[in-house]
Formats: sequence, structure tokens, C-alpha cells
Amino acid sequence: MPHRFKTVLLLGAPGVGKGTQGKILGSIPGYFHCACGDVFRNLDVHSELGKIFYEYSSRGELVPDDVTVRMWSQAIQSRVATHEFKPNSDLLVLDGIPRTVEQAHMLEELVDIYAVIHLVCKDEEAMIDRLRRRAVKENRFDDADENVIRNRWKVYEAETKPVLAHYPDNLIHLVDAVQSPARVLHDVLEVVSEIQESHFTKYIG
Ligand code: ADP
Repeated sequence: MPHRFKTVLLLGAPGVGKGTQGKILGSIPGYFHCACGDVFRNLDVHSELGKIFYEYSSRGELVPDDVTVRMWSQAIQSRVATHEFKPNSDLLVLDGIPRTVEQAHMLEELVDIYAVIHLVCKDEEAMIDRLRRRAVKENRFDDADENVIRNRWKVYEAETKPVLAHYPDNLIHLVDAVQSPARVLHDVLEVVSEIQESHFTKYIG
């Protein structure tokens, strides 16, 4: 197993399409997608961690850094143990973590960041509208309340945006998120396929 997982980050405001893009990438051989929010949502709601997650996410707040990174690293190690994630042949696509500069520091010993894809949308109202629609489709309690959605945006601006400055400029790739999902995917693939091809042996289906 490599010393650190070869990784690309999907970064952007809530509703910008990180999960949509991550899921598609994760379905391609040679990529493994891990969304931190999904790891949290898969917790047993009655477990200690599950209760902590509910407490914070229902207010649109971030789960504390130490709990988040501990939980995430356990989850990823278990995906390695079950061979769902094969670090020697899969590029890790992270979505939803790191969400604070402190998390970025804490993750450094586990992940080696090859690129940060910044999905950009300046139109807050368009994203909030997407989240409202997602609330109905995916039954997400944290998207159902307008105030919680708006708080998530504030938290993104205050705590997650600064994560971009943590990484060197040459790792950051801007992708316009206000395009069709296929065109966003095209732009994302342009970045990640080059990394995947140059750091892993070719996939022969
Ligand atoms: P979205 O896709 O809308 O950005 P997520 O599904 O990634 O939301 O996350 C849902 C909630 O889970 C967050 O609002 C937060 O409470 C919690 N969460 C997810 N990832 C993290 C993280 N890296 N650090 C702290 N809290 C997190």
C-alpha cells in the first residue's frame, strides 16, 4: 500500500455538484470516490457518532475536526480492507473533506493531493434553489430548512473557502459549475484523467 493515498479533491459550495461529479468518477475503473457526508449519513443514528452528526448537521454546522478526521480515516481504512478501494490502482476522489484548514493539516499524513478541483458558482440563489429541490428528491433533513441551507453557505464561506489557500496555486483547477453536468464532467475529466494515467498503470479492461 502506498505511504499516502494519491488523491484529488472536489471543492465547492453546498449544492455546486461535487457529489454528482464524484459519483460519476467513482463509477470509472481507476477511481474511488469517497464523500464525507455519505460516510456520516451511513452511521447508525443511535450510535455516539451518529448522534454527534445529527446534532451538528441539523443546524448546518460542521462536525468538529477531530471527530470528522477520525471517522473518515476509519471509514477509508475499512474500504481498503474490503478491497473496495485499491490504493495501488485507484486515484482517490475526495468530496466534502477537508472542509476546514485544520482538517487539511490533519489529513496531510494520509493523503497526497495531486489536484484540487474548485467547482465555482457565484450565484448563491441558484445553488440554494438546487438544494431545495434535492431536499425533496433525496429526503435530506439538512436541506429542508431554508435557514439551515443559508447557514451552510455561510459556514462554507467562512471555514471551507480558506482551504483553497492552503494548497499551492499550481494544484488548483477552476471548473465552472454552472454548465450542464456532462460539460462539468468533461472539464473535471480533463484534469483528473491526466493524473490518473500518469500515476497508475494503465487499466486493461
Ligand atoms: P453538501 O453535499 O450539501 O455539501 P455533505 O453531504 O457533504 O453536504 O455534508 C452534510 C453535513 O455533514 C454537513 O453540513 C456537516 O454537518 C457534515 N459534514 C460532512 N463533511 C464534513 C466535514 N469534512 N467536516 C465537518 N462536517 C462535515
